Amino acid sequence: MGATPPSRLPSAFIRVSRCPICRYSLKDLAPDAPCPECGQDIDRDLFTSPEIQDAVTQTRAWCTLGIAAWALIAIAYWGMSTAMLSVLNSYYPGVYGANHYAGVWCRTAIVIAPIALSCSWHRHARRIIYRHASRRADRKPTLPKRVIAINGLGMGLFLLGCLRLLP
Ligand SMILES: [Zn+2]
Repeated sequence: MGATPPSRLPSAFIRVSRCPICRYSLKDLAPDAPCPECGQDIDRDLFTSPEIQDAVTQTRAWCTLGIAAWALIAIAYWGMSTAMLSVLNSYYPGVYGANHYAGVWCRTAIVIAPIALSCSWHRHARRIIYRHASRRADRKPTLPKRVIAINGLGMGLFLLGCLRLLP
């Protein structure tokens, strides 16, 4: 009586303190109670499982590499474009002005979108993977495809850019 069921080791170390769906505080709640705010059952074993931890680690690694690749693309694009504009300006003075530089800035700013997405995925990796896994029939936590798509694209473009710089 009063005995808690045996839990897997990692569960003992990670406490589910907030609802993984709506972030409502689960403090002072029975360990098997559904979320009082959104009414969802919370699969605490899934949320703290080593499988979800692996998927979270992989997602964060993809996001980190992807953010670095997108940032390097932006820096390289901005640097090469401004350098080219200054070279062109020395040949054709007055032809390339503020609007051309503004254009470079605008095109460089496009990378804010994938970087912002990846920052958000990095931050909310566990919740995103939990939600996805809890909807699956086999409840298997997996690396989200959109994480691979956006960050893989960044890394691919970065590698292509490196190859083009080679003689
Ligand atoms: Zn909830």
